[in-house]
Amino acid sequence: MGAELDAGGLPWEDRSPMDYRTTKAFDHFLSGLAQAERDAALRILRDETEGIRALAPGPGRAQEIHRRVDEALARFAGMRPDVVGQVRCGKGCAHCCRLWVGVTCDEAALLAERVRAGGAHPDAARMAFQATWASPADFIGKPREEASCVFLGPDGACTVYEDRPSICRAVLVASDPEACRDGDLSTRITAVINPYVEVLVSAALTVDAATHPPPAPGRHLATELLAALNPPQ
Ligand code: SF4
Repeated sequence: MGAELDAGGLPWEDRSPMDYRTTKAFDHFLSGLAQAERDAALRILRDETEGIRALAPGPGRAQEIHRRVDEALARFAGMRPDVVGQVRCGKGCAHCCRLWVGVTCDEAALLAERVRAGGAHPDAARMAFQATWASPADFIGKPREEASCVFLGPDGACTVYEDRPSICRAVLVASDPEACRDGDLSTRITAVINPYVEVLVSAALTVDAATHPPPAPGRHLATELLAALNPPQ
């Protein structure tokens, strides 16, 4: 993850050098493009990043990005019903809710706000021990109950669906859901990549990292939520 767009060599001018935090899916999309298309995609990333950077930080910015992601998903569904029609994800599947879930500070603040208002009830025990897991590898091979997202309900449905992070919105697969079961993101899984959604998620991660440098390998939902609910006095 990560694309040094300020490293020179690009044929377009970048007036605000920044270490862009691109998603793996966006990197994969870029790798299949010709140079001119790649430059155009990177210009869009730069513009969306500047657009997000202009928004006031906090829960409201997370909601606005979620709105833009949902809009991009709907637009893609309208343009490519053939591709979106192959998506196999559905309510209650939730295999991807037992993997590392990345968030931005804004998203953690949004979820914490909802918890404080009584609109969500994360599993406190799970949140505490997942906050000690330092990397995505820590989630692999763990009992399903332990690795489940703190907001995953007993019926396999998300209990904060309207406020779920962008990454939860972006992940779609066209392969057999059972291939996702063990958390092994192998070639058995066919991901449906929505380029514009990946641009938005990458732009949000870039602005987040520029504001508050994240720990490696990124911010995890449980850790950030715990910190947002217990700010230092
Ligand atoms: S926030 Fe919701 S959709 Fe995202 S991992 Fe947690 S339960 Fe799943």
